[in-house]
This record gives sequence, C-alpha cells and structure tokens, in this order.
Amino acid sequence: MNSITVKAYAKINLGLDVLRKRSDGYHDVCMIMQSLDLHDKITINRTQTEGIVIRTNLFYLPNNQDNLVHKAATLFLQTLGTQEGLTIELEKHIPVAAGLAGGSSDAAATLIGLNQLYQTGLSLTELQKLGVKLGADVPYCLMLGTALSEGIGEVLTPLTPMPSCTILMVKPDISVSTKYVYENLKLTESIVHPDIEAMKTALVNKDLYTLTKTMDNILQTVTVKDYPIISDIKEKMKELGALTSLMSGSGPTVFGIFQNRELAKKALFYFRKHQHYGKQVFLSTPYWPKAEG
Ligand code: ATP
Repeated sequence: MNSITVKAYAKINLGLDVLRKRSDGYHDVCMIMQSLDLHDKITINRTQTEGIVIRTNLFYLPNNQDNLVHKAATLFLQTLGTQEGLTIELEKHIPVAAGLAGGSSDAAATLIGLNQLYQTGLSLTELQKLGVKLGADVPYCLMLGTALSEGIGEVLTPLTPMPSCTILMVKPDISVSTKYVYENLKLTESIVHPDIEAMKTALVNKDLYTLTKTMDNILQTVTVKDYPIISDIKEKMKELGALTSLMSGSGPTVFGIFQNRELAKKALFYFRKHQHYGKQVFLSTPYWPKAEG
C-alpha cells in the first residue's frame, strides 16, 4: 500500500470544567467531548525521496513543520526509524482556531493513517502515548465518540453515546487566544462549575432534553464578557429553536443543539443570511466511530 486517505473529525465540548491550575502551568480539566461528522480529509502518499511535503487548500495554514500534520508525521517516521518521505494533501473543512480541535484531529488522523500505511499495528493506547506529545486533545481525537476527558485532557473514559440530534455551528469572525482565556479565568469560590455528573447521568438515560439543560462551559465566564458576539449568537440560536447553545472549548465557535432537523436548517439559513454573526456556519451531527462498523 502506497497511499491512504483518512478523515479527521471535529469535536465539541458538551461540558467543560476547569478544576485547578497546576504548579506546571497546565490546568486540570473535566470535559465531556463529542466528535462530529464535520471532518477534514488527509491523503498520505509514500515517496522514495526524503522529507515531508504538505499541500493544503487553505493558503493561511502553515505547510511546513508548524503544521500539526507535519509534526505528527515526523514523530511517527522517527519512531519507526525510516528515512522515507511523504507527500500529504490536507483538505480542511473544520474551521481553524475555532475551539473544534481541527489541528489536534489532523494530527490524530495522520497517526492513524500512517499506522495503517506502514502496517505497524500500534494499538490505540500506543498511538495515544505518541499523540499526547503533540497536544493534550490528540489522545481523545484518536478515540472519538462521547468521552470524559480529565487530567490535562489525556485521561479518557468512554461514555454512553450522545443521543442523535442536529448541531448548528457558527464561528464569529474574531480570534480568541486560548492562553488569554485560561489566564483570565478566575476560579473563585463563587464561580459556578458545570455539573458534569448530571450530564453523565443524562447520557446514561439517553435524555437529550436534560443533557442540554445541564450543558455548560466554564470558559464562557471569560469570553461572554469580553466578546458580546458570543452571547448574541447563543441567544439567537435559542430563539431559533435550539434546546441549548454553548461555546466550544476556548471558543469562539458557538454550537446549538436541535432535536428537530427542519428547525436547525431554518436556523442555518438565518445565520447564512445575517453574516455579521460570523461567515462560517455549518450543520453537523454527532459522530460515533462504531457506527461505521
Ligand atoms: P483546540 O480546540 O484544540 O483549542 P482550535 O480548533 O482552537 O484547537 P486549531 O484549528 O487546531 O485550533 O488551530 C490552532 C492553530 O494551529 C492555528 O493558528 C493554526 O495556524 C495552527 N495549525 C497547525 N496545524 C494545523 C492544522 N492541521 N489545522 C489547523 N490549524 C493548524
């Protein structure tokens, strides 16, 4: 086999809690992750010439060693000890710097693709040990589905899959620095932490309604104040029929959960027409790896 194409799935956080800041500067988190069927496509070709060449459809993405696909491929080839080279086509569909783990997911999919291409037979756990060197979200992106993510994001427990629904995403045209959000998060006594246990129970009960009523992201305490567009989108989504709306990760993408696909489509058209909320607007659904069989 000389070539392989793999998909890299976006993720949202159904719940995001930050427990404490650690002495090493990282934060201990407790998050409920969900993968979406929105995905990038990565095609990897083996070449006889040394080096990794990346081509991408987005002119503003790095195509050198700063691209996470490059980092993942370099790490894999070094682990294998091969001098072979690769050409990699990266077709981006996941919005960049959006809180949807696009880069981490590309890195994870690259590791999965290379594991198949070279028939190395590394287990999920072995790939995750490699992946965590590239980023805290990479181990989850290798696993996908509905999962609890703890530690800095690398301690993973599969959860009961999220009930079916339609998910609308709007990325406002602002850039929000993850570093800024974490540095400005004030973990005071009075801060309300998301009820992750209640969310887990709602998942077990396959109760989408209760799940949406308990979903929360503690990082919103920073971003909603500083970027009013985020709360404007959240409110509009609810007005348009979303059971709930939430910022994903450290933002700025806002997603709304719809039980009714027709309502979600109407909301999609609304946001496509009113572009001051953000030009990147998508509909998606939860993705569960086992569904592919
Ligand atoms: P997270 O949700 O994990 O915080 P994100 O969705 O906010 O991630 P990414 O889309 O992963 O952010 O991009 C963050 C930065 O990483 C961008 O500024 C981009 O230049 C860089 N980057 C490197 N490789 C990639 C890639 N393959 N896809 C997207 N961004 C990449």
